[in-house]
Amino acid sequence: MLKRASDAGLLDVQLHNIRDYAAGKHQVTDDYPYGGGGGMVMKPEPVFAAVEAVLGIGAQSADYQSPVTNHPIPIVLLTPQGRVFNQRVAYELAQHERVALICGRYEGFDERIREHLATDEISIGDFVLTGGELAALVVVDAVIRLKPGALGDPEGASDDSHASGLLEYPHYTRPPEFRGWGVPEVLLSGDHAKVDRWRREQALRRTWLRRPDMLAAVELSQTDRKLLDTLRHVVDK
Ligand code: SAH
Repeated sequence: MLKRASDAGLLDVQLHNIRDYAAGKHQVTDDYPYGGGGGMVMKPEPVFAAVEAVLGIGAQSADYQSPVTNHPIPIVLLTPQGRVFNQRVAYELAQHERVALICGRYEGFDERIREHLATDEISIGDFVLTGGELAALVVVDAVIRLKPGALGDPEGASDDSHASGLLEYPHYTRPPEFRGWGVPEVLLSGDHAKVDRWRREQALRRTWLRRPDMLAAVELSQTDRKLLDTLRHVVDK
């Protein structure tokens, strides 16, 4: 899908090696942590230099210090300490024409990068990777499929799990019977209103069973509430 989006001109990913912006013969990008302890820390100079060169910002005025306060392109630090990535954050990023993603390595970044260069910090989950590249790919993939035209079906992303605040209803395709397992009758009925109702019920049921935490944040109709009450009732018994 990313290749297709890129061929269609919807996506342009430019990779930049921070090392290319590091000074000196050895182009060092990391150094020992002040205060001791294990691991290496990414130095501020090459990361600032890379982002400023790539985005064409900085150094224009004598009093320029950092892009944080006055730059319109989100400069996102990928870090396990960031706000946890989800569909809402993906929508947010999809509103932007350009996004800069900074991938760390080693023990992470010199704190001044977080304070004075990044405008946002994103974690893709409560686990620690060896580098930010896979996290960046996850973000790019989730964001690009929200761009109009990136998915074959323009409605494709609106029913997705998490898009509506609910997990998505189950899908079936042909054949109507596989190893003796059928397809819910309603899906073969051709009755669109009935199908819609069934899908809503299934989405609610799944979310309630698997991710009850999500229900608290979702807008529910009276019919939805009734259904959930019935589910609770059935399970209580
Ligand atoms: N010592 C750091 C972790 C460094 S992991 C800490 O405890 O916060 C090395 C790099 O991998 C990070 O700089 C970041 O860019 C990336 N990374 C690791 N886990 C990540 C996650 N859950 N989400 C996004 N990026 C992550």
